[in-house]
Amino acid sequence: MAKILIVDDEKKIVEMLEIGLNAMGYDVCAAYDGETAVEMVLKEVPDIVLLDINLPKMDGFEVCRQIRAKITDNYIPIIMVTARDDLSSKIEGLDTGADDYITKPVDIKEVMARIKSMLRIKNLQDELRFAKDELQELAVRDYLTDCYNRRYFLEILDLELKKSVRYGRNIVLLMIDIDKFKLINDTYGHPVGDKVLRKVSAVIKTGLRESDIIGRYGGEEFIVFLPNISDITNLKSICERLRSQVEKSDINVAETKINITISIGAGNFLDNYLPSIDDMISVIDKALYKAKNDGRNRYVIA
Ligand code: GH3
Ligand code: MG
Ligand code: MG
Repeated sequence: MAKILIVDDEKKIVEMLEIGLNAMGYDVCAAYDGETAVEMVLKEVPDIVLLDINLPKMDGFEVCRQIRAKITDNYIPIIMVTARDDLSSKIEGLDTGADDYITKPVDIKEVMARIKSMLRIKNLQDELRFAKDELQELAVRDYLTDCYNRRYFLEILDLELKKSVRYGRNIVLLMIDIDKFKLINDTYGHPVGDKVLRKVSAVIKTGLRESDIIGRYGGEEFIVFLPNISDITNLKSICERLRSQVEKSDINVAETKINITISIGAGNFLDNYLPSIDDMISVIDKALYKAKNDGRNRYVIA
């Protein structure tokens, strides 16, 4: 049930509203001064705030401003409750970010009606925010493997490159390509090929750390950015781990186990000379090409 924060220094009013709102099934909390009100909004994250203007320590206008400034990822409707029936304080309330106002003496039926209509608006707003987050995820992820898509990966890499230039860090990149993948499609069909792509990306992810970034670069090609790798021995062991984990993974299609391997082209780009993204990719592409020519199921470090 929706949670409502009542802010009023008059205990009698708070009590009256509490009883009425509790009876309607709302979850109610209360604050008796402005400072506590802001603290409670941050702590309790109510769905609506009923806010008096004349308050000790900080007035309702300031409370309203602070709520709007401090809570940006969530919209909390604010209904101002004021004894003043003058136009200017109503206008100031709306200007500071209040959504509606009620004048004292409060009529509990009016409060209920305003809360109901405000909650309808809040629910719509929450749904919109949720849909926006989902759209954002869709825009950055590859739908099949859940890796970042190429465009977004390159955006991240661009930021990482700028950071590396600034802090004098190296950049390590891997280009990973599934061996003889066309044959898998041709032999077992495209849906099985898709299953293999998902499985391989999952196996690669388990071989990486939380901070590593993986993107689907093309059809059966993945690109990986490894932060904080300084020595080549470490890079070798990561490549070898990924290679052997994919080789060992079981991918079964109707009783038949399909053997999958990958080839990796890796590059360690040093901080004193960091090439452009295009140049780095062309370097690891060449290393990958060499790994293919040398017989596949192996890694080559440029
Ligand atoms: P190599 O060992 O040299 O990499 O050979 P390969 O067969 O893996 O390489 P090639 O580039 O000839 O074939 C890649 C294939 O990947 C061709 C394409 O149909 C397939 N492919 C690309 N995207 C998808 C996809 O989303 N799903 C499936 N099932 N196949 C895809
Ligand atoms: Mg391939
Ligand atoms: Mg390929």
